[in-house]
Amino acid sequence: MSFSKLGLSAPIVKAVADLGYTKPTPIQKESIPAVLSGKNILGTSQTGTGKTASFVLPMLEKLSKNRTQRGKRIRALILTPTRELAVQIEESVAQYSKYLDLSSMALYGGVDVEPQKERLIEGVEILVATPGRLLDLVHQRAVYFDEIEMLVLDEADRMLDMGFIDDISKIIERLPFDRQNLLFSATINEDVRKLADSFSGDSLEGIGFANNGLGNREFYDDLEDIVISPSSTTAETISQWLVAIDKDTKSALLSHLILEEKWDQALIFIEKKHGAAKLVSQLEKRGIKADCIHGDRSQAMREKTLAAFKSGELKYLVATGIAARGIDIGSLTRVVNYDLPFKPEEYIHRVGRTGRAGTAGEAISFVAAGDFKNLCAIESRLGHLIVRKEIEEFPVRKTVPVSILNYVPKHQRAGHMGSDNSNPYYGKGAGKSSTKKKTEGAGKAEKGRKAAAKKAESRQSGQSKKSNAWDRK
Ligand code: AMP
Repeated sequence: MSFSKLGLSAPIVKAVADLGYTKPTPIQKESIPAVLSGKNILGTSQTGTGKTASFVLPMLEKLSKNRTQRGKRIRALILTPTRELAVQIEESVAQYSKYLDLSSMALYGGVDVEPQKERLIEGVEILVATPGRLLDLVHQRAVYFDEIEMLVLDEADRMLDMGFIDDISKIIERLPFDRQNLLFSATINEDVRKLADSFSGDSLEGIGFANNGLGNREFYDDLEDIVISPSSTTAETISQWLVAIDKDTKSALLSHLILEEKWDQALIFIEKKHGAAKLVSQLEKRGIKADCIHGDRSQAMREKTLAAFKSGELKYLVATGIAARGIDIGSLTRVVNYDLPFKPEEYIHRVGRTGRAGTAGEAISFVAAGDFKNLCAIESRLGHLIVRKEIEEFPVRKTVPVSILNYVPKHQRAGHMGSDNSNPYYGKGAGKSSTKKKTEGAGKAEKGRKAAAKKAESRQSGQSKKSNAWDRK
């Protein structure tokens, strides 16, 4: 299957060939023809699957067919959660459109607004924007939406996590009704569905992606839901493992692994901003040169650090979850959860930063005894236990018990408002006491692991039934 067979014309096919893309990825195969035919799409796919090209290429194809550029007007709007992602997508747009006469621009906060306003005066065909700055410019009448033909919400779940729902709603209500909508999200939950619903201003209940009922279909016209891989899994090319570790020896363990295992590169996720700077200095004391990005660093510094990491000049980058969202570093070999994330979705996102476009990657998590609940939630979501490795030089004082794979957080248990019933483990033995497992010794732990893995396997078949329901087979 070649890109031209998907309905893309020569200038676009040549541009992707220049980038070394020989064949479309699965999501591109599904999404490109669907977008070209004018369908509205809800796409769930992991990061690193080639998602950006899956909406940008057909967008270019459509926009290049007729050029009608007016001042302060845009024809396609791509909303993203972070400045980094906005820059990155716009770079991709520029690369993919290099043989076309289409203009594009990234718009984000934290930098001088005047040059951005200047640039918009002529009009821009494809605008990649973060919601806050875009709204500012709308209020300043620097940009108008009346000629928008296409809207893309990228990493919708991230945008919701970051509290952009109000800004997004304000933007959507200003858009022309007659437009094509594309929503991409690594995970689909109730909130993402509600956001998709806000496209139409009506309740999404009954659209039933899960049962193809498409109750509100009239609002979505031809809604197409494209599911490339279940959101609860991570790419097979990624080797995931964890180390149980005491909190106070984490930085020593990290240095040990970097040096002993001769890690060529690592993106290291940490919870707190001040922890990021501290870890960088701890690594430096052990002769490891690292740097960090977090919300308190200026945009210019973040970009500079990121560029150094991308170029390979900087080998170890410590990042808080928010700062690192949307980062695409071509062939990232390794991510480290120095702190385990609180949400399973976040784990999946982070792990998705490696093993991109089919390359091999490694994801390592440091798990302290206090992370037990998070670990249960993550492993339940994955449907399997993550391989544990013991590092001889780092024996743990506080052990981490084997996960309960049907763990359901309190706020998601039956009867609780806002629960996500899509969790296949929902309510099944939820909240069972872990006391017994917690007191198990190492041998029993292994036995427990196997039993839990077996249980997970049988539950996984239940899960795939549920995920299949998202497929339009
Ligand atoms: P994305 O999921 O859009 O973040 O893309 C992940 C990475 O895959 C990016 O570095 C893209 O340049 C790359 N990529 C996208 N499509 C293809 C393709 N068809 N063949 C090879 N690499 C691709």
